[in-house]
Amino acid sequence: MSSSSESSNFIRDIIVADIESGKHEGRVQTRFPPEPNGYLHVGHAKSITLNFGLASEFGGKCNLRFDDTNPEKEETEYVDSIIEDVRWLGGDFGVKPLYASDYFQQIYDWAVELIRKGKAYVCDLSAEEVRATRGTPTEPGIESPYRNRSVEENLDLFERMRNGEFPDGARTLRAKIDMASPNFNMRDPVMYRILHAEHHRTGNKWCIYPMYDWAHGQCDSIEKITHSICTLEFEDHRPLYDWFVEQLGIFHPQQIEFDRLSLTYTLMSKRKLLTLVQQGLVESWDDPRMPTISGMRRRGYSAEGLRNFARNLGVSKTNGITELSRLEYYIREDLNRTATRVMGVLKPLKVVLTNYPEGQVEWMEAVNNPEDPSAGTRQVPFSRELYIEQDDFREVPPKGYYRLSPGKEVRLRYGYLVTCTDVVKDPATGEVTEIHCTIDPATKGGTTPDGRKVKSTIHWVSAAHAVTATVRLYDTLFTVENPGQAPEGGVFTDNLNPKSLEVITDAKLEPALANAKPLDRFQFERLGYFCVDKTSAADKLVFNRTVGLRDTWAKVEKKG
Ligand code: ATP
Ligand code: MG
Repeated sequence: MSSSSESSNFIRDIIVADIESGKHEGRVQTRFPPEPNGYLHVGHAKSITLNFGLASEFGGKCNLRFDDTNPEKEETEYVDSIIEDVRWLGGDFGVKPLYASDYFQQIYDWAVELIRKGKAYVCDLSAEEVRATRGTPTEPGIESPYRNRSVEENLDLFERMRNGEFPDGARTLRAKIDMASPNFNMRDPVMYRILHAEHHRTGNKWCIYPMYDWAHGQCDSIEKITHSICTLEFEDHRPLYDWFVEQLGIFHPQQIEFDRLSLTYTLMSKRKLLTLVQQGLVESWDDPRMPTISGMRRRGYSAEGLRNFARNLGVSKTNGITELSRLEYYIREDLNRTATRVMGVLKPLKVVLTNYPEGQVEWMEAVNNPEDPSAGTRQVPFSRELYIEQDDFREVPPKGYYRLSPGKEVRLRYGYLVTCTDVVKDPATGEVTEIHCTIDPATKGGTTPDGRKVKSTIHWVSAAHAVTATVRLYDTLFTVENPGQAPEGGVFTDNLNPKSLEVITDAKLEPALANAKPLDRFQFERLGYFCVDKTSAADKLVFNRTVGLRDTWAKVEKKG
């Protein structure tokens, strides 16, 4: 995996300079440190591509390390899904992931060392009181009355905290830094809290848990991370991380911050995504409308397409917002290269070819992928009764409509040129139920030996051979560009798009698709890219539309 295909980035430049100067003996060690409190989303894909990409580019390593310091919100389901997603994206973290919880003893021992050095103390203030005494940007905080406890008393109390002698929230361990620091993170931050909660890996061994700000840098140090790459909101925490490793005199990773990915019409807060799942507003974490990596995979996004998108974003020092269409561009670009073309009709209209012999079947040769000659061709059955898209016929064609209408000729892709001769309607509703056409037998394969021009080529499937499928079409999950922002007096879920899912239950597809397997990807000619759903089976085919053929959802599509 490479982090930067065409564009260079400033993090890469720092690493190149470090290698040249011999810092860390030229070693490159990065990490991707998710908290297992939800499924990974497309923002994480950016971080994964960057961290694993840089490691691989410079012959280094990238660890997958679970930041599992918060037992109340973490679950093994999340751990398993994260491992699967990182692997799928091509993140090579070796045989095993690592866990912050594996270092709990070392982190505890280092806390004891800081107490011994007079750099940490046990504080009896409640969380509420700690917050209330932190001060403001213009006023210093108030020193805790427990700040000057003796080392002996601190050591004793901290050990008793660990032994479970005190209830949740009764005491904390705090770093003794500077209550007047202009940086809030340096105003005696809490290092440990008491939490009698079962941990998904350490069980009930611990009833005190390190705070993220205390654990994170020490984990990086233990793993000898050379470049600790994180998002911009941690810039202000860097002085604290530096302070801890300097007090302890341990390996000092270099933290480098970059911009978080935000996408229009997309939410990336795991907390809010969890709300959608818990309230049943989406089917699951891997609902194809979700911005999760598992949802995108299920929808048909390719790992290569996601990585190309992430690489192309580059990194910067200011947070911005990226158009969703940019992501779709990279997905489409990759699928265009790789997806097999097929024909499928989503909203079928029966066509009878009145001059085509009953019972005759011709197998027409169709190209599997014009972008990839090695993909070869396949045979598609042609017969007297076909389905075409309802949209490809108009009894009274509007101006500029060149598809089928009475008296007009179109090309059936890989089939014949056909002319519409008759329209059959439901006498009760007046609805068109069937149309009759004649073929020109001289145009087999859709060729025109006489060189005549037809303005439209449409797709079709043979009625007798078609397989029926459920096809799910998606629109954005939210109707507004910034869905995290609730409308006035409302909640963010008010921004949900009621039309984000359309289910078609009787699409007609060419027979080769009967054997399609979950996660197979296709281009349905003229309709977009589709992926076989994970629930699909031979007797009940289910497809998800991955993305349209063009960037059409934002604009009104102009069809010829
Ligand atoms: P969220 O706020 O969505 O819950 P998080 O930052 O709490 O995300 P973590 O599990 O802590 O999620 O993230 C793991 C890594 O992924 C971190 O290094 C974080 O910086 C990075 N990351 C998370 N979200 C994004 C994003 N939107 N863009 C880029 N990197 C991200
Ligand atoms: Mg986090």
